[in-house]
Amino acid sequence: MSREITKVGVVGLGTMGAGIAEVFARSGYDVIGLDANDAAIERGRGHVEGSTGRAVKRGKLSEDERAAIIGRIRFTSDYSDLADRDLVVEAVPESLELKREIFEQLDKVVGPDAILASNTSSLSVTEIAVATARPAQVLGMHFFNPAPVQAFVEIVRTVVTAPDVVDDVQLVAKRLGKQPVVVGDKAGFIANALLFGYLNHAASMFETKYATREDIDAAMKLGCGLPMGPLALLDLIGLDTAYEILDTMYKQGRDRLHAPSPVLKQMVTAGLRGRKTGRGFYTYEAPNSPVVVADSLTPALIDDASVVTRPVHRVGVVGSGTMATGIIEVFAKAGFDVLYVARSDDKVAKVRSALERSLDKAVVRGKLSEVDRAAALACVAGTTQLDDMSDRDLVVEAVVEDLAVKTVLFEALDEICATGTILATTTSSLPVVDLAAATKFPQDVVGLHFFNPAQVMKLVEVVSTVATADDVVATAVAVCHRLGKHPVTCNDRAGFIVNALLFPYLNDAVRMLEANYASADDIDTAMKMGCGYPMGPFELLDVVGLDVSLAIQRTLYLEFREPGFAPAPRLEHLVTAGYVGRKAGRGFRSYDA
Ligand code: NAD
Repeated sequence: MSREITKVGVVGLGTMGAGIAEVFARSGYDVIGLDANDAAIERGRGHVEGSTGRAVKRGKLSEDERAAIIGRIRFTSDYSDLADRDLVVEAVPESLELKREIFEQLDKVVGPDAILASNTSSLSVTEIAVATARPAQVLGMHFFNPAPVQAFVEIVRTVVTAPDVVDDVQLVAKRLGKQPVVVGDKAGFIANALLFGYLNHAASMFETKYATREDIDAAMKLGCGLPMGPLALLDLIGLDTAYEILDTMYKQGRDRLHAPSPVLKQMVTAGLRGRKTGRGFYTYEAPNSPVVVADSLTPALIDDASVVTRPVHRVGVVGSGTMATGIIEVFAKAGFDVLYVARSDDKVAKVRSALERSLDKAVVRGKLSEVDRAAALACVAGTTQLDDMSDRDLVVEAVVEDLAVKTVLFEALDEICATGTILATTTSSLPVVDLAAATKFPQDVVGLHFFNPAQVMKLVEVVSTVATADDVVATAVAVCHRLGKHPVTCNDRAGFIVNALLFPYLNDAVRMLEANYASADDIDTAMKMGCGYPMGPFELLDVVGLDVSLAIQRTLYLEFREPGFAPAPRLEHLVTAGYVGRKAGRGFRSYDA
């Protein structure tokens, strides 16, 4: 028979504990929140008041409901107050020693049937459990941050956790409105094991000044539809907590990608622990406030040497595929004079009709007026002659992703175009510098990595090589602004920002599946519900194409020589067997067409 769980304790009322106490109170549980001292209790209470107060402001909660929630939580620093609890969830800092001490103490205080749960993100639940005389009644209950928002809980079963205990806690999770997934006791479980390598990589990108914090975060939000950028997320998680999680994961798996980026330790040591201290990668209005304020790293406050940009009126686009057509439309709608080159009259006509269809759709959807449609079409002309690019200020190449083909094209454009013409490539995986080297003016070559569909996706990665001139980058950025796009700048390195952060994560998900730790469905659920990703990794791999993903992963591996980037064997095998995703009707899942 299952236990009747109505009285709950939460130990540690920090970032997570206060949120967990709120979650239980929102679902009608009688909650006691415990923290070490009065100051910590006040902070915890303030957390709950702040969070529920924001919910009232957003119209998600009434004042009465808020008062009832707060009224259901009693605060204490005395462990004996937890004696009558049916379930206690621990959320103290990520230290095994501390957690073991607390479990030892809780074990002595609570009744014999009570269940003890840890919210640990990475520590061994088994090691915590054996600090008690009831290891069968100990498990992990891993909530996601912010606990009141993320509708997912990983329930961590050790080899000794009793099945009925797992069942009871699953029921509790469901009563809290959270989707539970039961997993084994392995550092990082599903979501963090996949998330933290990515967060750590983003911290390293910041540390090595590969891109600014704003650009790294914008790239992942706009390029992948993530609810937060990685650095803002690290601030939310807490850099001390993130450091401990990575450190534990590294010690367990010895994967270098989990070795905490040195900048994390430095920031923690300096007291920059993220939102909770008011400063982390960003600066906040006050401790625990989500409101970012300007600081010395804010781009607008950095003294820009005000580089003069080049005038761009006439734009050339080379190519006739999906990307080229999208880019032509984007430039035309922004009022540039666009001339595109396709390889035959037939292709020129096809691009024209694709453009007309797309603009028609925009009109039907009410996104474009008839007048603007006509104006956009009037801006565009097509040709089969590359020589016609001679009067262009900017030429954007969007032909097949093949280095030899693009190199020949750049050599030709170099001959045809006037001095000062900016030559841009949309490549997503080839080195931009190889194309620059094919010209006599490598300083005029830049990467403009649009995302598909170019009409919709706001992000453009502006990629500079070691040779690109500052005014060329500034011009490319200014052009993106005129297109209504959000440019981010980075150097010429495999994967730029987005792909370098995204694909290793997808590859890690494949490895997790290979290791039989969790099913594709559970992994997809964990990332969507625990981390707010728009798609799970296997859904995304099937959409992007396993062949495309494998090619990008191979490029990353070859450039960085990072053992953790080696493509997962399962990915290679599926591609070999023709399971390349939706386009083939089968990938990680099967499709009816
Ligand atoms: P935190 O530093 O924000 O909060 C820890 C709280 O524990 C503080 O209020 C502190 O006063 C209290 N505490 C310290 N020693 C105590 C003691 N002896 N007795 C009672 N209370 C004590 O940490 P956090 O980010 O909330 O992390 C807590 C746990 O949750 C960790 O195990 C972490 O891995 C896990 N977790 C964190 C996140 C996240 O995003 N931050 C997400 C999921 C899980």
